[in-house]
Amino acid sequence: MQIDVELFTVNKRFPLTISRGTTAKTTNLWVKISEDGIEGWGEASPFNVGNYPQSTQVIQESILQIIPNLQKKHPSQRQEIELMLNKAQIPSAAKAALDTALHDWMGKRAKLPLWQMWGLDRSNIKPVSVTIGINSPEGAKARVRDWLQFMDVKMLKVKLGNPDGIDADRKMLDAVREEAPTPDLYVDANGGWSLEDAQEMCFILADIGVKYVEQPLPRGQEQSLIELKKSSPLPIFVDESCFTSTDIPYLSECADGVNIKLMKSGGLTEAMRMIHTARACGLQVMFGCYSDSAIANTALAQLAPLADYLDLDSHLNLIDDPFRGASVEGGKILPNNLPGLGVQLSAFTA
Ligand SMILES: [Mg+2]
Repeated sequence: MQIDVELFTVNKRFPLTISRGTTAKTTNLWVKISEDGIEGWGEASPFNVGNYPQSTQVIQESILQIIPNLQKKHPSQRQEIELMLNKAQIPSAAKAALDTALHDWMGKRAKLPLWQMWGLDRSNIKPVSVTIGINSPEGAKARVRDWLQFMDVKMLKVKLGNPDGIDADRKMLDAVREEAPTPDLYVDANGGWSLEDAQEMCFILADIGVKYVEQPLPRGQEQSLIELKKSSPLPIFVDESCFTSTDIPYLSECADGVNIKLMKSGGLTEAMRMIHTARACGLQVMFGCYSDSAIANTALAQLAPLADYLDLDSHLNLIDDPFRGASVEGGKILPNNLPGLGVQLSAFTA
């Protein structure tokens, strides 16, 4: 098969601040594989969690390095390709781009959307949450108003873990609730709290009806998470603490759910394994994203009927997404009826 890699820069309409910093734009990778006259598309977006930062350059170099070996394979040889990528220790975001492209190719070859190939039920898809980054109370209110104008918001994800402390978190959360009394709320602290902060915050959040809290403590503090789970009235989800299916059995002691992202898992193949592993361990499942465009979010949306919560909103905050795929209707992100991922070039580029 032939493999091409193109870089594209996407700019956020509203820069996003989390406990670790602010992002206004990213340069992502568009991976195209072709064979038998069919083209499969995948995406990698840079992120910085875990053992080493997966920068655009790191991802690009790793893909370019493996291309000569990959070219000898056929897109249907996904098992052999996965072994090859694992052996070469290719970063997970690079694997995600390649694995997604192989799935897109397969769906197009079969002339079926991926959700249909897996026999999934689109009526089982839960609402997609949209994100309010760390901000002043007034800034957060303005962001809420913008989302409410943009779409039918059923669920808001509020980023806490403000470096100014949990008082600032409480003020921002109160402002969000005041501006949006109806949508469900959940909180992502991105590891920005101490155990004491988290214990206090979980009771406060439960009081105002927050559904669950994501990554209250930093990655690496899973032992303290066990203690938090014992006292917390809220379900706890892990994100930064959980990359692949092998992390999950151990985490079932510390958490009630896991956040699955393509860039961490290394693609749809491993995302599916993670879903089944989480269920076998009695955990709930959510899907999330980094600075992904419509390619990666539409790819994960293909599995959306299997998730309890969906946080696939990064592409909705881009002013120049080159792609369009899953549609947003009635507060839900719905994969379409086109074969494969169902992703096309957007009007912006076409
Ligand atoms: Mg998160």
